Amino acid sequence: MALSLYNKKRNFKQTTEPAGKVKKSASQLSFVVQRHKASRLHYDFRLELDGALKSWAVPKGPSLNPQDKRLAMMVEDHPYDYKDFAGIIPAGNYGAGIVEIWDEGTYNDIENSERKIAEKNLRAGLKSGDLKFQLFGKKLKGEFALIKLKNNEDNSWLLIKHNDKYATHDEYNSEAYTKINSPINKWLEENKKPVKKKSSSKRP
Ligand code: MN
Repeated sequence: MALSLYNKKRNFKQTTEPAGKVKKSASQLSFVVQRHKASRLHYDFRLELDGALKSWAVPKGPSLNPQDKRLAMMVEDHPYDYKDFAGIIPAGNYGAGIVEIWDEGTYNDIENSERKIAEKNLRAGLKSGDLKFQLFGKKLKGEFALIKLKNNEDNSWLLIKHNDKYATHDEYNSEAYTKINSPINKWLEENKKPVKKKSSSKRP
């Protein structure tokens, strides 16, 4: 049910993305941030809950600076196995382009780390549009919140870092933390639009 929209949008004979099946992590809840070059470069922020990945597209990517409020558009649930997906989505398919994993790890409720209670709290936060959680990633650590914008039909949320020991007060640009040998950066480099030469008016 939750993954029907995900499945509907994709042709699994063409894309190597995983088919939508409900599945849970064994112990700790998982999160992933994927960097995705589709028609536009963006980040996909995903939190495991109830056997699927709750998903937001974050155009500017996450930030560790609490002053940044990063727009996060909630999109359809993705299957749990999507957390391991990286690679090419062939042309003509939904989200065609390249995906790479930017950060991954576990996450939890801030109040209670006991799985059942944590999931109950997270579910309630998601429903009320005020979702607080802590991330244990390689890049993203500490407390964050996803806050739903009120009176808004297009599912816009804000991803905000809480002020804790993992926060930075310097300018934070997620693009500066892409991996060395990033396939996306390689692709971007190879597909740079050639700079148009100014037409020099040649005199006869
Ligand atoms: Mn995406």
